[in-house]
Amino acid sequence: MSDDGWSEGQGEGRGELVLRSTRVITPEGTRAASVAVAAGKIAGVLPYDAEVPPGARLEDFGDDVLLPGLVDTHVHVNDPGRTEWEGFWTATRAAAAGGITTLIDMPLNSLPPTTTVDHLRTKKDVARSKAHIDVGFWGGALPDNVKDLRPLHDAGVFGFKAFLSPSGVDEFPELDQEQLARSLAEIAGFDGLLIVHAEDPHQLAAAPQRSGGNYADFLASRPRDAENTAIAQLIAQAGRLHARVHVLHLSSSDALPLIAAAKREGVRLTVESCPHYLTLTAEEVPDGASEFKCCPPIREAANQDALWQGLIDGTIDCIVSDHSPSTADLKTADFATAWGGISSLQLGLSAIWTEARRRGRSLEDVVRWMSARPAELAGLSQKGAIEAGRDADFAVLAPEETFTVDPAALHHRNRVTAYAGRTLHGVVKSTWLRGERIVADGEFGEPTGRLLERNS
Ligand SMILES: [Zn+2]
Repeated sequence: MSDDGWSEGQGEGRGELVLRSTRVITPEGTRAASVAVAAGKIAGVLPYDAEVPPGARLEDFGDDVLLPGLVDTHVHVNDPGRTEWEGFWTATRAAAAGGITTLIDMPLNSLPPTTTVDHLRTKKDVARSKAHIDVGFWGGALPDNVKDLRPLHDAGVFGFKAFLSPSGVDEFPELDQEQLARSLAEIAGFDGLLIVHAEDPHQLAAAPQRSGGNYADFLASRPRDAENTAIAQLIAQAGRLHARVHVLHLSSSDALPLIAAAKREGVRLTVESCPHYLTLTAEEVPDGASEFKCCPPIREAANQDALWQGLIDGTIDCIVSDHSPSTADLKTADFATAWGGISSLQLGLSAIWTEARRRGRSLEDVVRWMSARPAELAGLSQKGAIEAGRDADFAVLAPEETFTVDPAALHHRNRVTAYAGRTLHGVVKSTWLRGERIVADGEFGEPTGRLLERNS
């Protein structure tokens, strides 16, 4: 939305802007401040009543909260190849509307998957003109692409995703323990990061498999032990190789003591969970409602309480969406065969804030879990905080305002959501990328997102 002279690039004052709020969330806490922006960067966090330089534009958000743009390191954009499921245009608009300014795309469900440098190039070519927010890429570790890992690393991927159980798509096979060891050794050789879908295939195969619309049956088919076992094996391998690993979408709270112990012992381990595990419970999933299906599954309320404890004590590092949509027809009423994936890109901040608030946590906690920590995980030192020198990426949030989730108001391609009809706290008023407003009240500007590389 370049309706102002500054973003058009007029001489020296280009991009000069002051963003003012009585509640700015900085790494040191929340305070009234004026944030000076120049050339897309935060030039300084100034006193609230700081003088606006001549020629600079003032945006005063009153009591709405100015927070750093969220960083979502777990998004399945599926573009190219399965663009009827999602795409860069729709995903990045949904993300922007939800206060996210950076996403990192998962290497699977697109065709091709991001498993060679050539495929990465194809993905970038597709993303370039469609990105409303900054976009980076994870690579994929397959049984047969060990030789591609270092070139992908050199080409700027943020790390590598591997599955230990079937991924759901044929072109992205899982690793067995031996293949995991081989890939991990290669990745450790250049101090890369392996991010892992940790469910043990043997435990899954041994679990009762019943088709139909009963959620309890589906839950029984993906037991906690499958996660606990796979995480234990991953920790053992990471410890042995001194490799950096990250557990994706933790659902089983039983694994928390194991994770905490590994961290204490110096294993280079980080862990994420997702809004659906932290805000939805198995007890409330209606029969046949496969918009709630994901793997690992949403578990019981008591499990959720324990996950929150893990977040609060730091065992879980961050919260990211695992936005993984499909077309509506694949979300059948049979939990056994329906596509597994929950679409929440636009809603994660409000969903988590609603639950955090209920549990007596602060918006600062939410910012740490959804912006600072994911930025750290990806090594994005220019993101994740409102402080001088970082990118001028912001979300403006009215945390006390509520809204009821209406699928028609969502911007991702298939408006299937597990959150329909829920009343959430926290309305995103506008989102800013490098000092430019990219969305306000559902109105988007032209795509100005950049394609990010590791350490860029
Ligand atoms: Zn995922």
